[in-house]
Amino acid sequence: MKKILIIIFLFLLSSCRSDFITFKKNISSYKSYNPNHLKDYYELYKTNNSYILTLNLINHPTFYTTSYNQIYYNDILLVNKLHGLTKDFIPKNLVEVKNINFVKRTNEIMMLDKVALTNLELLFMDAKSQNIDLLLYSAYRSYDKQLSLWKTTPTFDNLYKAVPGYSEHQTGLAVDISTIDEGLTSTKTKAYEYLEKNAYKYGFILRYPKDKTDITGYAYEPWHFRYVGSISTFIYENNLTLEEYIYNYIEIKQ
Ligand SMILES: [Zn+2]
Repeated sequence: MKKILIIIFLFLLSSCRSDFITFKKNISSYKSYNPNHLKDYYELYKTNNSYILTLNLINHPTFYTTSYNQIYYNDILLVNKLHGLTKDFIPKNLVEVKNINFVKRTNEIMMLDKVALTNLELLFMDAKSQNIDLLLYSAYRSYDKQLSLWKTTPTFDNLYKAVPGYSEHQTGLAVDISTIDEGLTSTKTKAYEYLEKNAYKYGFILRYPKDKTDITGYAYEPWHFRYVGSISTFIYENNLTLEEYIYNYIEIKQ
């Protein structure tokens, strides 16, 4: 009996050891791996089974509270209350909005990133085929424009406004969507129902969802969508914010 117990014990010990060796081999292949944290990585990994999340949690425990300027995670430009853009940041591929319904304002040319606009046009066309007339309310917003808005609206609700340089609209990838009949998209409209179910098919995500204010720093904005490209489906299906997606699925190397 004693012998059997010893054999079982040795077997368990060796399997733990081989788990650890496999773990070490795998995690050390990541760029942000730091050998000093190996023990911490291993303990944490046992609870979440994700190499990326483990690395990020240990390497960047202050991700949600640390600010960086002009920060890309893989190819994703993150702009939020902490991550801003410099004054002179102008997106490279801005093009003029022409082929869809948009709000015309004096002395203003509405612009958006070229790829985002192509996809937005498809989204608007698809909506139109279902008798929903979407209207682009705002798109790219330059630093100067943000500054003038900031100055003209000195009292503001911080959960809706961004200080100049911290608006996602400066990326050229964010849009506020309105409708011809009902104004800015709100939850009870047909337009919103449509967008909620279909925007991701064209690479857009609802950027400030309900009940995620503690993560995004913004109140629920059913009109504000962000172009993220092909990751939109994953984000949509897993009910994530952009911040959650980056932290859980992209190895942060900064
Ligand atoms: Zn917006």
